[in-house]
Amino acid sequence: MLRPNALAKVAGPAAIIGALGWTLLVWPAHFLWVYPAAGALFIWFSWSGEREIKYIFLFLATAAGFILPNLSPGGSSLYLMAGAIAEVLCLWLLFYALSHSESSRMAAKERLAADEAAAAGKVKDLEDELARYRLHLDSTLARIRDKGALSSAIHDMGSAATPDQVKERLETLLRNYFPGASVELRTGAPRDFADHWVAERKIPMLVRNSEADSRFARDLFSSEERSFMALPLYLFGRLVGFVRACAASPDRFKSEDLRGAELACTLAGVSMENIYLFDKVNELAIKDGLTGLYTHRAFKTRVEEEILRSSRSKVAFSVIMGDIDHFKSYNDTFGHQAGDTVLKAVAEVLSGGIREIDFAARYGGEEFALVITGEGKAQAAAVAENLRRTLEARAFSFGGRPSRVTVSFGVAEFPAEGVTASQLVRASDERLYKAKEGGRNRVVLE
Ligand code: GH3
Ligand code: MG
Ligand code: MG
Repeated sequence: MLRPNALAKVAGPAAIIGALGWTLLVWPAHFLWVYPAAGALFIWFSWSGEREIKYIFLFLATAAGFILPNLSPGGSSLYLMAGAIAEVLCLWLLFYALSHSESSRMAAKERLAADEAAAAGKVKDLEDELARYRLHLDSTLARIRDKGALSSAIHDMGSAATPDQVKERLETLLRNYFPGASVELRTGAPRDFADHWVAERKIPMLVRNSEADSRFARDLFSSEERSFMALPLYLFGRLVGFVRACAASPDRFKSEDLRGAELACTLAGVSMENIYLFDKVNELAIKDGLTGLYTHRAFKTRVEEEILRSSRSKVAFSVIMGDIDHFKSYNDTFGHQAGDTVLKAVAEVLSGGIREIDFAARYGGEEFALVITGEGKAQAAAVAENLRRTLEARAFSFGGRPSRVTVSFGVAEFPAEGVTASQLVRASDERLYKAKEGGRNRVVLE
């Protein structure tokens, strides 16, 4: 609602009083008709928000209501006095009603202002909360992004096929995780104070600011190493290397970063262990534990591959079966351990007496099988004869007792004497049997 200014506040009542005074002066006999117009004064005060002066005017109007009828030209009459008193009462009633409505309006206004202030406070609180939430959201999103990158890098590391690939991926992961920082991974014994510190305590090292870290002398770090992290790399519980990250600015790494890097290093170690175990299992499947030669299964696979290659190239290859003579009685005489040593020695002679491209396997207990690539049985028999002689010449000694072993061989070639692996094995085995029949320690190719 529009309120009058200070001048209008004065001018309004002045105009009303002026008009009242003038009317009473002109028509003093009509006092009862004119006097109620004094109510306009209080209506004006109520509208203009005037609080103090209105009481003075109430007093003046009341006084006028009692005095003016007595000054009437016709003299005071009971009728006039009673009318004036009634009008003064009405004026008071009006005054009271206006004051009451004004004060309740003021109270309502104050309540509204208080509500408004409370609402503004609430809005401010909500805005603060929103700002905090946005900040939290940003950092959570950043953390999710980091975690996402970390988990895909970890997945990547887990799929590495060689330890070198794991190392490479670990370095890449840490470089991406700490952009701008220099990252180094090295294997072997501790080389400097940081490696020794990590190796002795078996915990990673975090230096937030190398110029303000009371644990270390300042000159241990270069200017490029204001922020510094060193972490151990373990393989099957053994310390095998160190990872380090550094940056020229202080406070580049937080303890959260150290935990992330530690996790990556642990996973790199686990990935390498997996690769090692996988290789080991594979090796166990194709390599004989005692002699280190290939297994029966690997031999079959190799013969099948050789058949395919030979069929394409139309170049023959041969299979040699060998069996240690009277090995049972050798074991009985010298013991099983001596027998094992002999088996290893025979295996060594066999694998050392053939070319890189050939293949030697332990076919069974004291039986061996060889693949001589690209050679017919005549050349293969010459190889077997060489092996036989070498083995025959080899002297063993167990518990001071000298001994010797001999080996019998049977030879067959692809494709003339067999077109499948089992045919070839059977043919060479039959000849090995013939060699045994013929007195052992010999090579049979027919
Ligand atoms: P032959 O000249 O006819 O081949 O006679 P042999 O005694 O060698 O043949 P036989 O098949 O009767 O015996 C094979 C022996 O080889 C029986 C076993 O004690 C021995 N043997 C098989 N595998 C191993 C092994 O891993 N270690 C040892 N020490 N002996 C083995
Ligand atoms: Mg045998
Ligand atoms: Mg034997």
